[in-house]
Amino acid sequence: MFGSPHHLDLTVAHLATSVAFYEVVFARLGYQRTEQYSGEAPCWLYSDDGAPVFGIALHQARNRTAHDRYSPGLHHLAFHAQDRQEVNLFYEFLLENGIEILDSPAEYDYTPNYYAVFFADPDGLKLEVVHEPNVTKVVS
Ligand SMILES: [Zn+2]
Repeated sequence: MFGSPHHLDLTVAHLATSVAFYEVVFARLGYQRTEQYSGEAPCWLYSDDGAPVFGIALHQARNRTAHDRYSPGLHHLAFHAQDRQEVNLFYEFLLENGIEILDSPAEYDYTPNYYAVFFADPDGLKLEVVHEPNVTKVVS
């Protein structure tokens, strides 16, 4: 557990728009909205057996600079899928909800059999759902 991600906070141009977007997307990914953190940042938690593992919160931007993944900062964010079928079903969910697709489900040659779909949040932040089988342990 030590060193694995605990939470991620994103800054968004229009909080209400992004809350509506992420409510739908996070619910589909198995996250639950939480009120356990004080402050005004809406937060969703991913839990494992009832224990929170990872949280994502949203903050209202204070300037109008558009997101650019080739500027310093976050490039993209990926979520696990158990298998290709989950990636494909998630793609159907994206289509049904009118969410912008960046790259359709396909094998990408990052690692053998890497299979992913890429989509955008309301600010153009690139998001991904990926199945990467046969990931071998990193040997130090
Ligand atoms: Zn990726």
